[in-house]
Amino acid sequence: MKILITGGAGFIGSHLCDYFLKKGHNVIAMDNLITGKVDNIAHLAGNKHFHFIEQDVTEYLYLEGKVDYIFHFASPASPLDYQKYPIQTLKVGSLGTHKALGLAREKKAKFLLASTSEVYGDPKVNPQKEDYWGNVNCIGPRGVYDEAKRFAEALTMAYHRYHKIDTRIARIFNTYGPRMRKNDGRVIPAFINQALDGKPLTVFGDGSQTRSFCYISDLVEGLYKLAASSVNEPINLGNYDEMSILQFAEELLKITKSKSRILFKPLPVDDPKVRRPDVTRAKDLLGWQPKVKLREGLLRTIEWFRSH
Ligand code: UDP
Repeated sequence: MKILITGGAGFIGSHLCDYFLKKGHNVIAMDNLITGKVDNIAHLAGNKHFHFIEQDVTEYLYLEGKVDYIFHFASPASPLDYQKYPIQTLKVGSLGTHKALGLAREKKAKFLLASTSEVYGDPKVNPQKEDYWGNVNCIGPRGVYDEAKRFAEALTMAYHRYHKIDTRIARIFNTYGPRMRKNDGRVIPAFINQALDGKPLTVFGDGSQTRSFCYISDLVEGLYKLAASSVNEPINLGNYDEMSILQFAEELLKITKSKSRILFKPLPVDDPKVRRPDVTRAKDLLGWQPKVKLREGLLRTIEWFRSH
């Protein structure tokens, strides 16, 4: 297959490039590099099955030849990034998704949208199932990402229903691993690097808010299974081992044997109080569930940050 990955130089996008190249496919990565990094794909330079195009996906897309599958992963994705680039985040989720779907239509390609657990906002039910409609503050600081992704899902379903494009929607929950940016503001790179540098771990609020963390290889496997399936409805992909952020900070201090202390900082506006995926649909329809234990995934990620 010939696969286009928008956001191909980003954290998840670059792992997808590696995965599909290993499986013998041809990959085109497209990225405007505002949050993606050339370093993430530098090892692929010279690979004749790989091609990189530096482009903003919100602009008109032109590609010669066939494309079989489009993975639309372009978007700032950490709360810090999408608050730094609010307009770009709204544009890539709306205009960028429109362009990517238009290209899928033109090329008769299948299409997979990277959506997010943020479509559930600050959820009033826990765990979140795909049929939960969410609780999003559209004008809050996180609204730029949440609403862009909600619009992207709506547009994807419209192209599926109206233009008969064969589409998939992955609702991706917190994911971590090598190639996250040290300063992207997310809790895992933040805590790991604070612990390694002997700095205090910055816990926001009282740390009682919950998350669960999926290792990148599990996520990529889930995305692959979703792509290969015929499921057009949204599917949650994530780990379900829920813990509070304070518990997570303590766990990380143990794993890194760091002597860092914990420093409480104000809770950001609209920070979801709970989050945990119900992955029954992924289990039933894709035969997928996460395998990598938090400790194991963290050790690999810590090792990567140490050597970079
Ligand atoms: N968080 C924290 N300290 C940090 C970064 C994040 O306590 O230095 C908290 C944040 O408030 C949130 C959770 O960790 O409750 C996960 O944040 P992240 O930015 O990783 O992603 P989110 O799940 O909010 O999209």
